[in-house]
Amino acid sequence: MADYDFDLFVIGAGSGGVRAARLAALSGAKVAVAEEYRVGGTCVIRGCVPKKFMVYASEVSSQLKTAKGYGWTVGEASFDWKSFLHDKDVEIARLSGIYVTNLQKAGAHLLHGKARLLDTHTVEVEGKDAGRYTARKILIATGGRPVKPDFPGADLGITSDEAFHLPTLPKRVLVVGGGYIAVEFAGIFNGLGVETTLLYRGANILRGFDDDVRSHLADELEKRGIKVVLGCSHQSIEQTEAGLVSTLSNDLTFETDVVMFATGREPYVEGLGLDTVGVELNERGAIAVNGQSRTSVESIWAVGDVTDRINLTPVAIREGAAFAQTEFYNNPTAFDHDLVASAVFSQPPVGVVGLSEAEARHAFGKVDIYRSIFRPMKVTFYGGQDRCLIKLVVKQDDQKVVGVHVVGPDSPEIIQMAAIAVKMGVTKAQWDSTCAVHPTLAEELVTMREKYVPAEVGGAG
Ligand code: FAD
Repeated sequence: MADYDFDLFVIGAGSGGVRAARLAALSGAKVAVAEEYRVGGTCVIRGCVPKKFMVYASEVSSQLKTAKGYGWTVGEASFDWKSFLHDKDVEIARLSGIYVTNLQKAGAHLLHGKARLLDTHTVEVEGKDAGRYTARKILIATGGRPVKPDFPGADLGITSDEAFHLPTLPKRVLVVGGGYIAVEFAGIFNGLGVETTLLYRGANILRGFDDDVRSHLADELEKRGIKVVLGCSHQSIEQTEAGLVSTLSNDLTFETDVVMFATGREPYVEGLGLDTVGVELNERGAIAVNGQSRTSVESIWAVGDVTDRINLTPVAIREGAAFAQTEFYNNPTAFDHDLVASAVFSQPPVGVVGLSEAEARHAFGKVDIYRSIFRPMKVTFYGGQDRCLIKLVVKQDDQKVVGVHVVGPDSPEIIQMAAIAVKMGVTKAQWDSTCAVHPTLAEELVTMREKYVPAEVGGAG
């Protein structure tokens, strides 16, 4: 049998790579992990974690308003962007350090540098730990990266990567895109007092989500002061003395200090040497893998965003874990990508598991819809106008709950629990037999008895 430097070489120390490397190393395997930037990957360094800190920071402005509504006298409040960024970076460095420690404790070797494949068992690292390393198995976990659109002046815009390090908080921002990162950052900037416009070329934000969620959230964003411009895109951006001037597809011009593109991400495969070794890509430019994350090359696997299955941290972690179980614990495991719950940390946030109404109608024909839109008691107290949306999609023939959609405070926390029941195949009757927790927003989920009949469906069920 050939002699290799390592049993496993992992390229990329993000969510998927770190989990796979740690588990494999804990089995006694000799493992190396190469990282070209910072250990922790997108999630820890420039994704979920810093974003959530920014959401927390920006939510304080509405909490101050709530405080007034509940009788508090709140003095002049101000926000210090620089001090927040500093503290955020200190915390991110601490978390990244924990990832490094955990890798080391498991016995994995961390190599700093950019890795590329030389052949099916050899990786070359360029950078601090430059060298050529051979491995019996190679795992690609290089993640994704943001893409900017291609039009004159697009280079003047930033992406989420730079939004985490803006030297000053702008007065005006134009966030371009309709996906979850766009609506989250629009909420962040708006909450921090930045005049915020969300520009999206499609008919409504959050494509792929339930239509009620999409329209409800767009309304709620506007109520909170975000200007939502739909069906419109960029022609160009120019730098002028007054700021960045965007010329839009309707020929109107729009002046801001920062344009942030959240217009999509692509699998990060550049410079990996995939064609040299014959690792095939799919039609979306992602590494093509089977259910056990195997690529077209026998000794090479891929997990996480680089495979563009469901691009979320817990999914990358589970895919990495399943790979390690299969290859290093003799326990063949495939991660089940069905019914993965997700959240949008917009303001208000969204929590979703399962199918949208349209997807369910397409898949099953007949569905029952239960829907409630209401002002939560916390805001009715002071006359606030925020509204929550709760919606259940139920398959008509067997009464299984196939979709749960919540827009409102704590919906990401609520949906995590709802997902357990949906994953277990709960029926509407079982769901309803669960006694409410009172007074909560979530109790509305188990107290919806009357079917909602959308006008256009007209009782067809
Ligand atoms: P990554 O975490 O991206 O890690 C890949 C690593 O590989 C990186 O560290 C990179 O530097 C390194 N690398 C790449 N190429 C090489 C090379 N050739 N050599 C060496 N190293 C290399 N997901 C959620 O679940 N919840 C959220 O709230 C959420 N919010 C997000 C917010 C933003 C702004 C973004 C951008 C993403 C967010 N995500 C969220 C998605 C989540 O971050 C990703 O799904 C997750 O990080 C994917 O993990 P991964 O292991 O595939 O890749």
